[in-house]
Amino acid sequence: MLYREPEDGEPIRFENGKWIVPKRPIILYIEGDGIGPEITNAAIKVINTAVQKAYGSDREIRWMEVYAGEKGEKLTGNRFPEETQKMLLKYRVVLKGPLETPIGKGWRSVNVAIRMMLDLYANIRPVKYVPGIESPIKNPEAVDMIIFRENTDDLYRGIEYPFDSDQAKKIRKFLKEELGVELEEDTGIGIKVMSKFKTQRITRMAIKYAIEHGRRKITVMHKGNVLKYTEGAFREWAYETALKEFRDYVVTEEEVNTVYGGKVPENKIVLNDRVADNMFQQIITRPAEYDIILAPNLNGDYISDAAGALVGNIGMLGGANVGDSGGMFEAIHGTAPKYAGKNVANPTGIIKGGELMLRFMGWNEAADLIEKAVAEAIRQKKVTQDIARFMNVPALTTTEYTQTLVDIINSM
Ligand code: NAP
Repeated sequence: MLYREPEDGEPIRFENGKWIVPKRPIILYIEGDGIGPEITNAAIKVINTAVQKAYGSDREIRWMEVYAGEKGEKLTGNRFPEETQKMLLKYRVVLKGPLETPIGKGWRSVNVAIRMMLDLYANIRPVKYVPGIESPIKNPEAVDMIIFRENTDDLYRGIEYPFDSDQAKKIRKFLKEELGVELEEDTGIGIKVMSKFKTQRITRMAIKYAIEHGRRKITVMHKGNVLKYTEGAFREWAYETALKEFRDYVVTEEEVNTVYGGKVPENKIVLNDRVADNMFQQIITRPAEYDIILAPNLNGDYISDAAGALVGNIGMLGGANVGDSGGMFEAIHGTAPKYAGKNVANPTGIIKGGELMLRFMGWNEAADLIEKAVAEAIRQKKVTQDIARFMNVPALTTTEYTQTLVDIINSM
């Protein structure tokens, strides 16, 4: 047996997408490759400190390490051991260090395997400016967005064939003979698909998050003016879901203008939509207008990184993949192999991933402590080398920075 499960903890359970969190939840962690072990263990230390500070001995996470990536390979000969998969299916919530995935060869992505196994259909990325970090825009203080990107549909379904494959030939023939659409012989094929079910479930998740966390607006990002039956349908289904299932909480932008004289009624979330290309310039020029962004897969992929750039530093951002019965929380960056084992990496990304995990657990008091501690460390210019080099201050090691966050939380 590879693992011994903590005896005094319980799994988090899920009922209709709702997290039922016991006082001593068992949460898995995967250290990850490269800088993974350093930053993941730093994050656990900070999260534990915040939970202890917020709830004393009343609540405590029972962490359980499971192996994947290089460590999995070393210990079991497998990058994604079967026993790890069993634990993931049982416990369903994991804090994950970055895992190496070779480009165009070698093993399949363990990240993708976990996502599929737990049906983590929403990729969620909060993007909020922390004062003191260098940003390419003039008013970065206004940036406070959360992107909900649909993670399982769209062009990423992988229905794609090289121009000279049998499949592409068959599809071209079908299009010509059945639908009267003639494509050139040298045309590769990728098929864009969007389903109502998948649009509805991510819309529900974004709206529930907005309700539970006091967010004020949801913007549906789409290219429905051109791609009417995929992106246009995404927009339509999102409105339909919101207005059918959450009518008490949501008003549309149009209603605000036509019924409420331009003033948002108290405690209502405004639902609007914007065409994707327009949004790329607007998140830069008018970031204050964006709060939650609900996007199909491809748009969401692009806008997540563009929004991330507004707040400056890749080492600072966390994210998550979440479904109706599980979640994987992480930093947005990779394994940064050149810094592995040097005690210099910035652990803030995975710490922010942990903060988001606490919010999904409903442990908001602990999450708030982490958010404030990171802002305070930056304000004091106590930072790792990736940020210190822009601030012209001496850099802290990963360990020193982590201890700084722990001390700040304990002093709050
Ligand atoms: P990367 O690991 O994100 O690193 C790129 C560069 O960004 C680093 O060399 C470092 O360079 C800076 N950086 C990133 N995170 C940092 C941190 N926490 N502290 C300080 N600096 C940091 O991207 P990559 O080199 O393209 O990818 C390496 C491997 O990671 C690949 O195998 C990829 O597949 C994997 N990956 C995994 C995940 C995941 O598990 N979710 C995500 C992305 C990539 P500078 O100092 O030069 O800025």
